[in-house]
Formats: sequence, structure tokens, C-alpha cells
Amino acid sequence: MSYRPVLLRNYSHILYRLRPLLLTAAIALAVCLVDACAFVAKTLSTGGEQPVAHPVVTTAKAPPAVGPRVIVFCLDGAGYPQLMEAIRSGKAPHIAALLGKEKDQGLFEHGYSAPGVLSVLPSSTVADWSATFTGKPPAQNGVPGDEWFDRQHQRFYAPVPITVTDTADFSGMLNDGLVGKQLKVPTLYEQLKRRSYVSMLMVYRGSTLFTTVAPTTFAGIVGGLVAGKLSGETSLEAISKSVDTASIDKVLQAIDEHGLPRLQVIYFPGIDLFTHASPDPLHAQVGYIEEHTDKSVGQVLDAYRKLGALSNTYVILVADHGHTPTMNDEAHRRGPDDPGSPFAILKASGFRVRKASLTLSKSEEDFQAVIASQGFMAYVYLADRSTCQAARQTCDWSRPPRFHDDVMRAVRALYAENQSGVPIPQGKGNIDLIFARRPAEQDEEAESFKVFNGRELVSIHHYLKKNPRPDLADLEERMKWLGDGPYGGRAGDIVILAKASSSIPIQDRYYFATATHYSWHGSPDMSDSNVPLILALDGGSGVVMQDIVENASHGGTFSQMDLTPLVLALIGR
Ligand SMILES: [Zn+2]
Repeated sequence: MSYRPVLLRNYSHILYRLRPLLLTAAIALAVCLVDACAFVAKTLSTGGEQPVAHPVVTTAKAPPAVGPRVIVFCLDGAGYPQLMEAIRSGKAPHIAALLGKEKDQGLFEHGYSAPGVLSVLPSSTVADWSATFTGKPPAQNGVPGDEWFDRQHQRFYAPVPITVTDTADFSGMLNDGLVGKQLKVPTLYEQLKRRSYVSMLMVYRGSTLFTTVAPTTFAGIVGGLVAGKLSGETSLEAISKSVDTASIDKVLQAIDEHGLPRLQVIYFPGIDLFTHASPDPLHAQVGYIEEHTDKSVGQVLDAYRKLGALSNTYVILVADHGHTPTMNDEAHRRGPDDPGSPFAILKASGFRVRKASLTLSKSEEDFQAVIASQGFMAYVYLADRSTCQAARQTCDWSRPPRFHDDVMRAVRALYAENQSGVPIPQGKGNIDLIFARRPAEQDEEAESFKVFNGRELVSIHHYLKKNPRPDLADLEERMKWLGDGPYGGRAGDIVILAKASSSIPIQDRYYFATATHYSWHGSPDMSDSNVPLILALDGGSGVVMQDIVENASHGGTFSQMDLTPLVLALIGR
């Protein structure tokens, strides 16, 4: 009796993500800014082409001899260890054949898989792809997470909804360039100034052609799911696989119609969807990569091979973040309506907390605190409450909060509740670290985030010296990437890190979200943060690939942001 409702509840988060695709995939915009004066603007998602406001010039197929070219496979949610396990297992033959024999750790005959590459913080989809495809960290590029609050415009953003359930920003991300509009720095495509095609990735501003999926691809699947025809793991796999397959179909169609671009970006959302919703998620992910991702990669490589272009095409595999297994139950979820969540704690301490919703009614606009979530991390934005003490009074969000009466009041409330479980028993022991800082005046850059040690805020450096945390990879530098810069204020006044380390038992891990899942991400833990960055060339030399990757790196921490200079270096070669 209870099987189907439970099943559907567990799928609800996936459906939330897919539903807007059904509604909005008909509008895909592609703008050619550069590349041999060709100007192409098309809608491919319906399978046809529609001229938009600009004149359309149909471009001839680019001759395969032109190069070098680059393909970037964007594997959403693929952890470095999981991808490497799949490659080494012998069950991902297409990727393995491209790389050739492994001679040394990560050094292959024809490719190089850089070890220790980190995501930016949070290890969450939208922030991570934004950093990857601009080469700049969140505090500089302006996109700090899956959700955030822009206090200047009093606008809550949720391109990937975590605490809210509205999907308008998800649609806006695919069909209205929501992420591109928020990015304050040039994208890779704008820096490259060559023909670039993007399939499904949310960072596509400045690309020549952006394609997304046809509505019919999803109608059948979701229809089947709702009708209860699909069940268990098979249906989940079918959903994830279909999204990825659709991405490939769009790529092949675009190549067929327009020829090969210099840069082809292909996004696979399925790995992440499947991992979140699979019991034994990390193991399931390896199987999914072997079973599905490898085939999709092989299809694209085959298409290039048939056109005689593969030997002159560098292939990159990169991910946004990995996953850490969690308990798929409400006892470990700390979403907006859960007792013991940051929402509940701040409310109990007298803060009027903004309702978790994209839009508010007039009577709900008197909020004094806003919470946005990244899974294992949550951002808290505070108003100067002296401007809005009475209920129904709207706060003046153009002013920074007061340090002692707003910021530290909230910090101490969160800390005390976490220590004692008073007044909410479920709030005890959910939080790992609380970061905060003295608020910046308007038009001023905020200072770096510090850690609250129970008495005062201390520098992350100082804190880690006294309390070593090798599980939190490069925490100090990555928190600077998040908080130090012209848009560092978008990460809020307080950052809360849930207890989520992969080094503690799974039953001690918590997450700030509306959906329960078998795995989450967003933390600085290696399990979430260690991502693959693989460069290969069919028949090329792995040693040369290693050289190229290492030379393109910014230096310092090796991160996913090195993708942008890497592609620029490859195509400029
Ligand atoms: Zn992701």
C-alpha cells in the first residue's frame, strides 16, 4: 500500500528538476558573437530552427582539418575516485581506450588525470560550473551557489532549488540565461572568441550555439513515472539516462547541421540525479558511469572519428563536485520546516526569517533574516534590525547588519543551540562550523570569513592550527574564494557548515534541504570536493597532456577553475 507514495515522494525532487524542462525546453537561444563573422541564432530544442531577432546566416560545415578542437564532457556530480574506479574497472571501455594504459597514478598512455583537483566552495552545482567556465571564484564571478540572496535588489535566487520548491529560476537558467545574467566576468566562450557549442550546461552566455532538450524526451518518462509504470531502480536509471542521452542527441544534431565547433561542451546531469537517489550512492555512481556515461562519451568520440577530426581534438572530462553519502530520512534533514534547522533556530531567537520561497506576499516582506542553502552549507543574510523592529515593518536591506546586535546575536544563537539542544532538541549537534565576519559598509568589500570558536571569531588559519581538520580540503583558501571579492557579500553574513564530513559515521551527518537523499554535497570535505580533470588526445602522449595541464594551472590550489585557462591554452596552440 505504502510503496507507491513513498516512491513518488523520493522522486519528487527529481521531478521538480525535470518539470521545468518539459515546460521550457522549447526555447533555446543561441547567439554567435564571433568566429568568422558567422551569426547563428537558432532554436534546436524543437528539432527545428527558428530565426530570432537577428538575421540568420546558415553556416557551412566547418572543415574537419581546422583545429585543434576541444570537447569538454561535464559530468555533474562525478567524484574523482568514482570516475577513476570506473575507468580502471575495465567496464568503461570507451573512456579507457581513449586514455590507453595507465603507466603511473593518473598518467595514461594518451591522457592525464590530475589528482587532488578541488571544486570551489560550496561544492554545489551552479557555483561550481560558474567557476569552472569563467576561471574565477564565486566572490569574483558573482554566482555563489545553487541558492543565494541579493540584498541589494532583495531578490532570492534558486536556479537549483534546495530550500524552496519553486522552479521558475530553474526554467530561467535554461531558457533565459539566468546564470549568464548574474555572472560578472567573461565566460570561457567570450574569452575564447571561437565557435563554441554548449549542450544543456547552465553556463552558456557568449557561446555560438546552445541546445537543450526536446519536451517529448521527458513527456514519456515523466508520464510513465506518474502513471506508476516505472518502478524501483530501473525507473530512476531510465530518467537519468534519458536526460544524458538527450544531451548527446542534441550534440550530434548540431554537428550534423552546423559542422564541428572549436569547443564543444556537453553536460550530463544524469550522474548527479542518479547518485542522490541511489542507496549505496558512491557505488551506484561508478556503475552508472560504466553503464551509461561511458557509452555517451563513446558516441561523441565516434562522431568525431567518422569526420576525421578526433586525432586533432583534445578531450576533457571534468565535474562540478562529488557526493557524500547521507541518511535518506527526515531525521537527518534540516530543511525550512524541520525542527532544529537554521530556520527554526533563528526564529526561536526572535529573528523574522524569510519564508523559503522565490516570491512573497506583501505581508511576508518584513523578514529580518534570509537563509539560502547549498546542501551541506547554508548562508545567512541579516538586516539591520533597528530599521524594522516592529512586525510588518520592512527592513532597510541597503544597510549592513549591526555586528553585535544582528550578526553575533545570530551566531551565538546557532552555536548555543548546537551545543545544548535548547530550546529545540533536534538542533543539537547538527552543525560542524559557523563562519561569520564583520559586515562591510555598502560598496566596501567584506573582510574574510572567520570561525566562531564559542567565544569569538578567529581567523580560519588560527582556528585550524589549534583544531586541525585534514578532512576539510584547503578550507582557508576556498573560503577566501567564496567571501573575498566584489561579490563576496552574496555568500551572506554567516556561513553554516553542517556536520557532513565523510570521516564521521553516516548517521551523524545532516543537510539543509527540503528533499531527503542518499547523498548530498556542498561541503569542503574531500568526498564532495575532489573532482576529476582529465585531458586526453586520441593517440597523443600522456606526458605531453600532463605538461599542458600543469602549465595551464593558476598555481596554488589545483581547482576546477583551471579548466578555463586549459581550454584557452589548447585552442590557442
Ligand atoms: Zn552538480
